[in-house]
Amino acid sequence: MVHKVQLRTSKHDQMIDITDQVRSIITQNEIAEGIALVYCPHTTAAITINENADPDVVHDMLMTLNKVYPWTCPDYRHGEGNSAAHLKASTIGCSQLIPITNGNLLLGTWQGIYFCEFDGPRQRSFYLKLQKD
Ligand code: ZN
Repeated sequence: MVHKVQLRTSKHDQMIDITDQVRSIITQNEIAEGIALVYCPHTTAAITINENADPDVVHDMLMTLNKVYPWTCPDYRHGEGNSAAHLKASTIGCSQLIPITNGNLLLGTWQGIYFCEFDGPRQRSFYLKLQKD
């Protein structure tokens, strides 16, 4: 089964914690053991797992990505003008695969799943593919 989740980003660069949305879909589908694929169908957004306790981690990640991939660069060729967003999206990656056990995501205490926006604000979506054992 594949579930599509819509979301609206509100900033140009943003990391949105989607862990609770993913958990609730797993609960609704009564999956005790299996695997969850969280997949982003966009070329300027990404999915990652990282700390969800200290918001400064998100700040530092976005700040550092902006240093590595500045928005403007005279050598970029892509005519749409958003090369930095494409570079960040491929660096972070478009999916995460997470085990499900005892009806819950097998995440560490401080881990959350993030939808990463790199060219917002926009209407976005992600897919959740659930596979039962
Ligand atoms: Zn582009």
